[in-house]
Amino acid sequence: MQVLLVEPAYYSRYPPLGLMKIAAYHRVLADDVRLVRGLADIRDFKPSRIEITSLFTYAWKPVHQAIEFYHEKFPEARIGVGGIYASLMPEDILKDHPYVNIHVGLNTEAERYMPDYDILKQVDRWKDWDGSILFTSRGCVNRCPFCMVPVMEGGLRNVLSDPRSHVHPEHSRVIVWDNNFLALPDWKEKMELLRQTGKYIDFNQGLDARQMTREKAEMLASLKTKGIRMAYDGEHEKEAAHRAADLLENAGFGRREISFYALYNFYDYECSFYDTPDEFYRRILDIMHMGCVSYPMRFVDFHSKSKNGFVSVMWSEERLEAVAKARRVLGFGGAFPPYEGLVKKFEQAGSFDEAFRLEPKKAGETGTEVTGAVADG
Ligand code: SF4
Repeated sequence: MQVLLVEPAYYSRYPPLGLMKIAAYHRVLADDVRLVRGLADIRDFKPSRIEITSLFTYAWKPVHQAIEFYHEKFPEARIGVGGIYASLMPEDILKDHPYVNIHVGLNTEAERYMPDYDILKQVDRWKDWDGSILFTSRGCVNRCPFCMVPVMEGGLRNVLSDPRSHVHPEHSRVIVWDNNFLALPDWKEKMELLRQTGKYIDFNQGLDARQMTREKAEMLASLKTKGIRMAYDGEHEKEAAHRAADLLENAGFGRREISFYALYNFYDYECSFYDTPDEFYRRILDIMHMGCVSYPMRFVDFHSKSKNGFVSVMWSEERLEAVAKARRVLGFGGAFPPYEGLVKKFEQAGSFDEAFRLEPKKAGETGTEVTGAVADG
């Protein structure tokens, strides 16, 4: 059987892991598998099955384009669509393309396979890819209201006991996509197995600061890493963030090797959990005072079809734009490292509007350049 795997032409820093696993599954069945990205000119291949993946809901358009394009090109082929957007909003695809099969959630047949990295050589964008991506677990022990993991994957469960089995011998790094690695009962065994690979280990989804202990910090320091990322998503996490940074520093990490994702623009009507511009400013300043790097993460409603469509009632378009601009102009790679000048600017500011103001005040000016619809405290 000829199977065509399609990654729609949206932006992604990572190759399509789900499709790579499906490729491995079909290779075992001796099927002829091809991977393409976007709308490819295919001449010497006539698939009877086409699998199209999807990413975030706001990247829906290229998915629809791919479905239309390949359905027209191969009308006889059975088309399956999976991935995040397909799982969260299947009806949004079916209303326009009732002939496709939607795979909601994980592809249980393919999930256990080591991704087929050789297939990436068929796509220009991925042909030099050098990292093994793996999940040793799915789900999470927490249910943070802004996160899609509990909705998509449910509670924490083990899916791979020996991560070495999914590490490609030629890769230089291992990218761990577990949602909450430190909450795993067998975190220690897995970390030891990861250490044995001798490769760079990247806990890409961030580690849960609340789960950090001295033993975990010391084991993390024994790995080859390029720093540790955690989350500091609200003032309620302040104590845990400070404790985790202290533990990591005591274990041997430099403060600048520690970064915190800092959520902003979130508002939940049901549980009254939200942030405000001034609270966000205080959090960023707190991270700077810790000597660590902050990485602002704008909340994107995971059912929204436009990337920046959601604006919390506590924020405004202007203030959100001010953060984006400051990240470009004042930050480095979208992050705020604790540069002396930047820390001073934030310390002197005293409020979000002043801190994220990019132009110096003109003589006699008292107002702020960045204004918002809602006053916050
Ligand atoms: S700890 Fe992380 S993965 Fe778990 S629910 Fe919260 S944000 Fe999601």
